[in-house]
Formats: sequence, structure tokens, C-alpha cells
Amino acid sequence: MDYFEQFRVKPDSKVKLEKIDAGFKNTHISAKSARKETEEQVEKMRELQYLMYAEGKRSLLICLQGRDAAGKDGTINHVLWAMNPQGCKVQGFKVPSAEEAAHDFLWRYHKSVPSKGQVTIFNRSHYEDVLVVRVHNLVPKSVWSKRYEQINNFEKMLTDNGTHILKFYLHIDADEQLERFKARIDDPTKHWKISDSDYSERPHWDEYTKAFENMLRKCSTDYAPWFVIPSNHKWFRNLAISHIINTSLESLKMKFPEPKVDINEIRSRYHEIVNRENGN
Ligand code: AMP
Ligand code: MG
Repeated sequence: MDYFEQFRVKPDSKVKLEKIDAGFKNTHISAKSARKETEEQVEKMRELQYLMYAEGKRSLLICLQGRDAAGKDGTINHVLWAMNPQGCKVQGFKVPSAEEAAHDFLWRYHKSVPSKGQVTIFNRSHYEDVLVVRVHNLVPKSVWSKRYEQINNFEKMLTDNGTHILKFYLHIDADEQLERFKARIDDPTKHWKISDSDYSERPHWDEYTKAFENMLRKCSTDYAPWFVIPSNHKWFRNLAISHIINTSLESLKMKFPEPKVDINEIRSRYHEIVNRENGN
């Protein structure tokens, strides 16, 4: 299966989340049957990230969005696990601080985009400003409705400057969210993850659906695509995302940089040292 094309939102296409099966798992029956394929993808991702770091010319920005308990943290564990920590960073976004709120809405995100050779994962992103902000009328419609175009322009500027962008919407259904809330209650090591907002946002499910669908429709572009990832099965989500990252990084045709030294000359100097130290 071509994961990239299968889950990509075509620019300007209408997405109906209700019609997308959040429990989709392709031909796999279980985590176990997908393990080998996932391991291969993770290994490939490791090699491609190393190449990006070595090349030092381009960067990758991954944006994660989804409802509460959709699996943003789990995805980060999965993706980061594959990567060299020297070339990778995670940036989460909470309710804006006073300083952040005193600037234009993109300011805090722009400050955190990856530098050349680096991968940055946004745990929530500039899309919060057309999601939670829209659902709760934190600014008037006349303000948030202009943001889709502003976001597209921002992302175009980033991609024109060598930042590759991939955006993943982690799609879970309402039953799965409740199950995950229950798992959090039942497991004391997950209590810290429970927040009031999980429960206060749930009644706004349909308004969020509309906001997500609008975001997907208006902001999936050729240069910065959105992907809707079926995420009821965590292992399938991980598999799909690693496939997409790999397809996308491979298309960049990155190359190791030319050596900064003359390798033949260095080789003969190496042999000189070895000979001298061996007393020859
Ligand atoms: P979490 O990621 O679960 O730790 O929660 C972060 C909280 O910050 C969520 O409830 C988000 O909706 C909220 N948040 C993130 N960005 C914004 C924003 N731009 N405006 C208002 N709330 C935000
Ligand atoms: Mg949360």
C-alpha cells in the first residue's frame, strides 16, 4: 500500500471524518503481524534522519494534532526513538503565555521551527489557533477565519527556505477516546496525564470535528500536506507515520556532503603515522 497517497488529504478536498475508519489496519491483523515491517521502517527512518543531519541543508517539521488521548505523546516516543537526539527536538504548545499572547499568533511557532539538518516535532502547533481558539471563540470569527491563508503563507515561506513539512491528524473515534480515558483512570502511572480539559472538551466533539475538517480542507497543500492517520490502533498509527516520513524524506534525494579533505592524501598520512609508530 502507498501509505503516503492513501492518507494524504488532497488540496481543497472535503474531508468527512465520520466516514474515515479510525480502526483501519490494512492487511495486518495485530501489532505482532506488523512488527517486522515497522522495525524495517524505523531503521530506514534512522538512516534518513542521519543523512539529513549530515547533509545539513534541509530540515523537517512534523506537526501533530488530534483530540485528547489521540496519541500525540505515543507518536513522539515512536518517532524519536528512531532518531539521533542530536538532530531532533520536540516542542509542545500550551495555552499561550502573556508574552506569546502579546505577539502575532505565529510568533511562538516560528521561533521553534527546525534549523538546517534538524527535525522538530510540534506537539500541537499553529493549528491550535484555528481549533481550540475557534471552538471557544477566543478571538472573533473575523480574526480566526483569516488564519488559514496566513498559515498557508507561513508554511510556503518555510518550505521555500528548505523546511520540509508533514502534518498528521491522529484520527480516533469517540468510543476509543472513552476507552483511553478509562485506561488513564485505571492506571496510576497515567493519572498525571488526566486534565480537566479532556472532560470539558468532549461535549464539543462535533464542533471540533468541524474545525478539524476545515483545517484539513483549507490547509492541506502540495508543499505542506495533511495526513489523516487511523489511530485507534497505536501500532498501525506508528507504522503508517513511519512509512509516510520515509517516503517523503526519500523524495528529497539527500546526499552525504563531499568530504572537506582530500581522502587520498589523508589516507597516505594515516599510513605514514602507522609506519612511524611501528618503527618502520
Ligand atoms: P496538553 O497538550 O494536553 O498538555 O494541553 C495543552 C492545552 O493547551 C490544550 O488544552 C490546548 O488546547 C491548549 N492550547 C494550545 N495552544 C493553544 C492556543 N493557541 N490557544 C489556546 N489554548 C491552547
Ligand atoms: Mg491533554
